[in-house]
Amino acid sequence: MKFIDKFNEYFKNKEQKNINNNKMDELYKFLFIAFFVIWVINIFLRNPILLALWIIDCLFIIYRAMLKNPYKRQNQNMKYLAIRNKILEKFKLQIRKWKDRKSYIYRKCPNCKAEIRLPRKKGKHVCTCPRCKKDFDVKCN
Ligand SMILES: [Zn+2]
Repeated sequence: MKFIDKFNEYFKNKEQKNINNNKMDELYKFLFIAFFVIWVINIFLRNPILLALWIIDCLFIIYRAMLKNPYKRQNQNMKYLAIRNKILEKFKLQIRKWKDRKSYIYRKCPNCKAEIRLPRKKGKHVCTCPRCKKDFDVKCN
């Protein structure tokens, strides 16, 4: 075997190990935080629904740790990240709306449902959606 082949094989194995080992991914972090948060809240509330949620969380952590297929775990993590990013985007938009509330208004396009930021001008205006190029009326007090 040539040196370069050995070199390549070494890194291939290393990559494989990185996928296989049970690193703390974002979904794990979320599950563990949920585990402790639910646990602490339930010390005070003693709610059966929270208890059930806590048990499901525990079981899911164990299930993920026992998964033999690392790609499945990665897939779950990707799905979780997609959902988390969507929620974060909505949250950021709400913060931006609150910061802009004095100089801008936000309206949804009735045609394509895109959220559009418009300068706050009193009266009735016609606005053209930048995405679908359709006109619609905007009222601002
Ligand atoms: Zn539109």
